[in-house]
Amino acid sequence: MSLFVSSRCAFRAAARMKRQFAVRRYATEPTTPKPATEALPSGNGGSSTLLYVAAAAGLTSAGYYFFAGTPAAKKAEAAVREVTPGVVKKALTGGEQGFVSLKLEEVETVNHNTKRFRFKLPEDDMVSGVNVTSAILTKFKPVDAEKPVIRPYTPISDEDSKGYMDLLVKKYPNGPMSTHLHDMVPGQRLEVKGPLPKYPWTANKHEHIGLIAGGTGITPMFQLCRAIFNNPEDKTKVTVVFGNVTEEDVLLKSELAHLENTYPQRFRAFYVLDKPPKEWAGAKGFINKELLKTVLPEPKSDNIKLFVCGPPGLMNSISGNKKSPRDQGELVGILKDLGYTPEQVYKF
Ligand SMILES: Cc1cc2nc3c(=O)[nH]c(=O)nc-3n(C[C@H](O)[C@H](O)[C@H](O)COP(=O)(O)OP(=O)(O)OC[C@H]3O[C@@H](n4cnc5c(N)ncnc54)[C@H](O)[C@@H]3O)c2cc1C
Repeated sequence: MSLFVSSRCAFRAAARMKRQFAVRRYATEPTTPKPATEALPSGNGGSSTLLYVAAAAGLTSAGYYFFAGTPAAKKAEAAVREVTPGVVKKALTGGEQGFVSLKLEEVETVNHNTKRFRFKLPEDDMVSGVNVTSAILTKFKPVDAEKPVIRPYTPISDEDSKGYMDLLVKKYPNGPMSTHLHDMVPGQRLEVKGPLPKYPWTANKHEHIGLIAGGTGITPMFQLCRAIFNNPEDKTKVTVVFGNVTEEDVLLKSELAHLENTYPQRFRAFYVLDKPPKEWAGAKGFINKELLKTVLPEPKSDNIKLFVCGPPGLMNSISGNKKSPRDQGELVGILKDLGYTPEQVYKF
């Protein structure tokens, strides 16, 4: 049986999605919430390419260069095992650890260009160590290439899942890392390093957050959602605006529909399709100012935060791109026009 969400769930979710496109307020009557880990299906668990390439090149020249089986890789694996008894064992510990070789355990085709990959952690009782919000770096060296390719990804499995870590990866034509991953078969290994810290999350850090995502930009957003809805203490309200080309491209739809059904008073999602099917009741075209103005928490609200992640075009239009992984760059675009301040916006 597949470890992942069945396509039946996805179809049920798609049917539910069709009903939810009118702009609406949160429901006033709470349903009985379940922790997201309990309720999610068993498999529950980019932005500017130039920036990624630059980051990867920088990392490469900085000497992050390990191969499975080398003394450095063996040392890193040994370091993974050195943990204090009683403490949760983490596969990825950052710092001096370097890249760790993980074995691909299972692959599921999600749609025409996206696959879900389950990697086995070095020990069955280990968690990934990827805290919220952070990403991992993957690395492989193409045959005949001088330098390895390094790209970041955001795991979609729960942070407390033991023994495995899941990635959801869209394949880009001629994209070296996504093509490499899509060509991998169970039993093969991938070099992984992390965590790569992004925006640290603590319960109730913000009263209401808006998550604006395009395509695979949903993965860091889903990481945040998991942290919030898996924690009964966290009462943050979440509004997702998710843009895609076609309905088939909408990733994690059953997971998002589950959150919407379980937490209608705190979670809502709006879907925008560039090429919608005939019967599409949601928004059409690109994510635009009118939609964001209507559904996002107002700029003047107390303690809100907006997160943006997606392809370069979406970033440009909504918030502007990051300058580098450590420099958020100037806030421009729709969010600036709507009156949000740079402090209210985080670009993944
Ligand atoms: C923090 C972070 C987390 C990420 N998490 C994920 C994730 O969970 N899943 C995932 O699939 N990707 C994710 N990405 C994107 C990923 O890192 C790679 O950029 C992507 O897989 C393409 O790599 P590549 O080597 O195959 O292609 P590249 O050589 O990088 O690009 C190939 C072609 O695809 C285009 N392209 C690349 N990336 C994008 C994009 N995001 N949108 C539109 N066009 C693009 C390029 O313009 C180019 O033409 C994340 C990026 C960041 C910064």
